[in-house]
Order: sequence, then C-alpha cells, then structure tokens
Amino acid sequence: MVAVSRCRVCDTPINAFMSFGRMPIANGFLTANEIPNEYFFELAPAFCSACGMFQIMEQPEPEKMFHEQYAFFSSTSRHMQAHFEGFANAVLEGVLAGRADPFVVELGSNDGIMLRHFQSRGIRHLGIEPSINVADVARGHGINTISEFFGRKLADDIVAEHGHADAILAANVMCHIPDLPGVADGVQRLLKPDGVFIFEDPYLGDMIAKTSYDQIYDEHVFIFSVNSVARAFAMHGLELIDVMPQTTHGGSMRYVLAPKGSRVVSAAVGDALAKERAQGLDQGATYLRFKQNCEASRGLLMQMLEKLRGQGKRVVGYGATSKSTTVTNYCGITPDHVEFISDTTPIKQGKLSPGAHIPVKPYTEFTRQYPDYAL
Ligand code: SAH
Ligand code: ZN
Repeated sequence: MVAVSRCRVCDTPINAFMSFGRMPIANGFLTANEIPNEYFFELAPAFCSACGMFQIMEQPEPEKMFHEQYAFFSSTSRHMQAHFEGFANAVLEGVLAGRADPFVVELGSNDGIMLRHFQSRGIRHLGIEPSINVADVARGHGINTISEFFGRKLADDIVAEHGHADAILAANVMCHIPDLPGVADGVQRLLKPDGVFIFEDPYLGDMIAKTSYDQIYDEHVFIFSVNSVARAFAMHGLELIDVMPQTTHGGSMRYVLAPKGSRVVSAAVGDALAKERAQGLDQGATYLRFKQNCEASRGLLMQMLEKLRGQGKRVVGYGATSKSTTVTNYCGITPDHVEFISDTTPIKQGKLSPGAHIPVKPYTEFTRQYPDYAL
C-alpha cells in the first residue's frame, strides 16, 4: 500500500475530505478459503486545491491489482467494442490519414479491444499491458503487446526499438497510474513532434453532478477534470488542444494533447474550463457537498434493500463490476440483501465478490429464475 500526504502531481500537502472506509481490491474476486487473507486498505479521496487534482490518499501497489489473474476483459462488453471501433476510426481518419508507415502505441491495451482495428489494417502498433492474462488474449489475435507498466524508462526503450509514435492512445488507464509525472514524461519522450496523445477516463464533472461515487475505487487513483489534466501535462511540455465528452462509464472525457505550440487549441477547451468553474469543481465546498450526497445515496439504497428484505423479495445483482465493490462495501450490502451477482465473465463466476462476499454466478442463473428486483 502506498499512502501519500502530498499531491502526486504538484506536491502540495493534501487531506482526505471523506472516507469510504475499509475497501478490498475492486477486481479481487475470491474463493471462500481466501477470505482470511483478503487485502484491505482505506479508500479516502482528496482534492488538491493547488492544481485541482482529485485523488485517493492510499492505493494498493500496482502489482496487487494488475497481474496474471486480472478479472476485467474489455471485450466482454459489446457496448465498449462499438465505442472503441469509433475511437479507432477517429484516430485513423483524424490523425493517421496521409502519414507514411505510422506507429500507434496504446497504454493499457487489455485484450486488444482497440488495437485490433489498427492490426487488421496492417498498421504498426504496440500495446502496453501489464496484466498478462488479458494481454495473452490480444497476443493470441496477433496484436503486438508487451506486458510491462508504462513509464519513463519503458518509453525510452520503445523509442530505441520502434522509433517515435504518431499517436499514443489510452482509455481508462491514465487515471490508474499513480506516477502521473512519470507517465507524462514518458509520453512526451515517445511522441513525434507532430504526434498526438489521446486518452479518455471517467470525468470528475459527471461524477460530482451524478454523485456516482462508484467511480472511486483502488484502480482509480485520479478522477480527472479538464482543468487538472491541462495543468498536469503542461508541466511536461504537453498542451491540451481538444476535449470531447463521452457517455461511457457513466460520463467520461476524451483529452487530446500535443507538444506545446504544435497545434491550434480548440475552443472546446476554454468552454469546458468555464463550465467547470461554474460547476464549482475548483471549490473545496463542492466536495463536502459531494460527501453529503454520497451519505444520502447510501441511506436511500439501504432503506430500500432493507424494506425488500423485510418483504421477502428476491434481489439479484446485475454485473459484478469493479464499481460495485465500492457500493457494496461502503453501503454494507450483504448476501442477505443480494442473493447473488450475475456476470458473464468466466473468471469471476463461482467466486465471491470482494469484501461483501456475495456469490457470483453465470448469467444463465439470472434468466433461469428471474428475481423480483435487479440491482
Ligand atoms: N483500455 C481498456 C482497459 C482498461 S482497464 C478499456 O478501456 O477497456 C486498465 C488496464 O490498464 C488494465 O488492463 C491494466 O492491466 C492496465 N494498466 C495498469 N497500469 C498500467 C500501466 N502503468 N501501463 C500500462 N497499462 C496499465
Ligand atoms: Zn496538486
């Protein structure tokens, strides 16, 4: 476990504004005999008023979360398959068109959900994916993938072996990497002078507006805003030149960055910054209100689950997601409230959900006898 007392980006002292309590690894599905050794840490978010970065104070070591038994396979979601086809097409048409022998690097490429669209067109590509089991799926489809954690050192190695990148892509992984300065430096070194870095992650503005506190779990060390991304990367010579809101994962933002001064900055950046100020994303009071909203949400959910339990209704969980780990553990949901969780991912089936220990069963169990309520 790594606990900080200073902002990971600008080194200003920070304090947690709330705690979600004792939390297990969000993707740490386990068997009954693994319960005595289950790992816990305290999930407590902080807001750095100096640089605007939202982050958690303690995070388990990366090796505890991303390994040869990582339970999240991107391609199990058909919705995300379509999303990444669109993302890849935007890069093919908007960045790579007309370039001779372009080179594309993706960080956190998982099972190849995005890179396959480059591989199938014969475009030089490289996936960086430390979780070996999901990387093996990509390699099985002929997608070039190395299983390492991206950082400064790896960036230099890639340049030495393959040259600089025309495009560096990342989805739902930048917010996972605690050494943001190291990654930003790595990206800056790996990128061609006319290259672009495009990444997307859950968006702080949506999380605050919707009280979607389930965005906060071990892997998500940061929840980004346009303001915090612009500042964090500016320290490493990268300029935020465009932003595009996404509907994925309950509200995400796509960020486009380029070496400073190399491209025109879109008006969308200034518009988004103004919107964030109007929403109060730079104000400490906003986060205290968020805390109250989380507590109110927890109260309502538990009131309803207790009522249904009293009425003898069957409630089943739909999707054993990493996000649900925060909800079940923060709210205190038990197998008495939720009979089981239905999930299509084989590696999760037959196991127990992290912390709450609710059994995970195949989707066929859900359809075999439909419950009264799905959560
Ligand atoms: N891009 C995919 C996967 C997101 S899950 C999608 O959006 O569906 C995050 C992935 O990032 C995991 O597969 C994890 O193993 C990987 N990852 C974690 N830390 C990393 C790092 N430092 N460098 C590269 N990949 C990393
Ligand atoms: Zn800071």
